[in-house]
Amino acid sequence: MKAIVAVKRVVDYNVKVRPKSDGSAVELTNVKMSINPFCEIAVEEAVRLKEKGVVNEIVAVSVGSTQSQEQIRTALALGADRGILVQTEDELEPLAVAKCLEKICNKEEPDLVLLGKQAIDGDNNQTGQMLAALMEVGQATFASEISFTDDAVTVTREVDGGLQTIKLKMPAVITSDLRLNEPRYASLPNIMKAKKKPIDVIDVNEIGVNVDKRVQTIEVQLPPEREAGIKVENVSELVDKLRNEAKVI
Ligand code: AMP
Repeated sequence: MKAIVAVKRVVDYNVKVRPKSDGSAVELTNVKMSINPFCEIAVEEAVRLKEKGVVNEIVAVSVGSTQSQEQIRTALALGADRGILVQTEDELEPLAVAKCLEKICNKEEPDLVLLGKQAIDGDNNQTGQMLAALMEVGQATFASEISFTDDAVTVTREVDGGLQTIKLKMPAVITSDLRLNEPRYASLPNIMKAKKKPIDVIDVNEIGVNVDKRVQTIEVQLPPEREAGIKVENVSELVDKLRNEAKVI
């Protein structure tokens, strides 16, 4: 079985993001970039399925700038077999990314397409759903457990207030939630081996999809600063402050 995993280059989750001085976008100059954490979970799941003998090839695909090869290399170091970069210097919208991934899937014919449930930069939570729709295949979002029978995949989904288990025909699109697994660290030998694994680079203009923008970001801003808290001596002081200063009771 072949698995495609979509990996996105995003600002590292430890970085405190700040807007550009004109508020037009998030400042990316000299900012540490990493593989999106939910994509890392998707890669880990594919690698575990390969270790179990369910999957025999993992292809890591990214749509982005030349530097996105770094995140493909991370996926290769974690256990993916080869990479594909759809290269563009523009930040594409989820629909455009989904169309690029669909073209790759048409060519590669995977049984399983794994994505993160969301990219932590735009928080869109759209690409997997759009890809499944374009491919006209079943989708299971927010996966916290995946298991296989001969021609079907069973997925437990994290839904509001509980879990839902569904069965899908393959090929299928699955997006990973936080509790699906805990990704491993890439070992040094595997990082070295990953340097030799192949990455195909395809220019977005050669892929034949319309990637025109439909959405314009008007402004990005930081949330308002929180005021420092205060310590109270006892419950009656707390009640007094809540009643007379905060006026919430
Ligand atoms: P989003 O819909 O933007 O929140 O992203 C959800 C998931 O779609 C991510 O975790 C990735 O697996 C995939 N994805 C989104 N954008 C890209 C991209 N530019 N390249 C590769 N995969 C992407």
